[in-house]
Amino acid sequence: MARIAFIGLGNMGGGMAANLAKAGHDVRAFDLSEDALARAEAAGCLRAPDAVSAVDGAEAVVTMLPAGTHVEQVYADIVPACAPAAVLMDCSTIDPATAKRVAAAAIAHGLAAVDAPVSGGIAAAAAGALTFMVGGPEDAFARAEPYLAQMGKAVIRAGGRGAGQAAKICNNMILGATMVATCEAFVLAQKLGLDPQAFYDISSVSSGQSWSMTSYCPVPSVGPETPADRNYEGGFAAALMLKDLRLSQQAAAEAGAHTPMGARAAELYEAMAADGEGGRDFSAIIERFARR
Ligand code: NAD
Repeated sequence: MARIAFIGLGNMGGGMAANLAKAGHDVRAFDLSEDALARAEAAGCLRAPDAVSAVDGAEAVVTMLPAGTHVEQVYADIVPACAPAAVLMDCSTIDPATAKRVAAAAIAHGLAAVDAPVSGGIAAAAAGALTFMVGGPEDAFARAEPYLAQMGKAVIRAGGRGAGQAAKICNNMILGATMVATCEAFVLAQKLGLDPQAFYDISSVSSGQSWSMTSYCPVPSVGPETPADRNYEGGFAAALMLKDLRLSQQAAAEAGAHTPMGARAAELYEAMAADGEGGRDFSAIIERFARR
């Protein structure tokens, strides 16, 4: 069993750190929040007084932080303090450019580093059922993979440094756009006199099918149980979808890619968040279309 530093014990990181402790690792946990630290301790982690102490002697370091600025700041502190043989895994969702920069800084110190953002929400983090999309050289991937596998159901190498983040934001750009398309189609179908269940039965086995339709249907009582059946509570917050869509649009601008559907989805989620609905599940955007 290994000594692992885990930094960022929020909604996602809390469950992930708990799974590493459950697997028998010696997990040294740090977060700025006292509540998060107390929960990690109750889940079998050891509380570290700060990030630098957490990484002291650790063979593996996992970070699960809100955004690129937090990752950059934490890496500036911990990289010089890491043990020479350590492998660093940043599981936060951040822009590919920052991911490449922080990994390069770690590598310059002789460390192995990968970006390893996740697909799956808070329930998947707690259940150890995340999908990891990993960017980094093959040898770093080989070292990170056994740890990531203990927190997830799939660990897939996307390519070199930053490729995990690229895969994550492209995947979530599809998700945002297909959710918007699915919601507006349900609204139109209903206005044309179709029963939502009948439309689901047809579209879910036709070419309109997508994950947003069949696994995350935005209409209550249609398809599998989803946040739509809980008044759009829990699930994946619209504010987080907006964060990922903004990252995709920033990356598209930097790469010179034309992403009109992603751009429109970002505008629609901007409007939802501006109206104070950022805490609701992202599929609640259907209500905005239905109101018009
Ligand atoms: P969160 O806000 O619940 O947790 C982040 C934690 O980081 C907080 O506890 C905060 O106190 C801590 N933190 C911030 N700065 C720190 C610092 N300098 N040192 C130590 N701790 C610090 O966020 P979350 O929902 O757990 O998301 C984490 C990451 O995972 C984000 O990048 C998010 O985009 C991504 N993600 C989230 C979900 C989801 O459903 N919540 C799904 C996939 C990916």
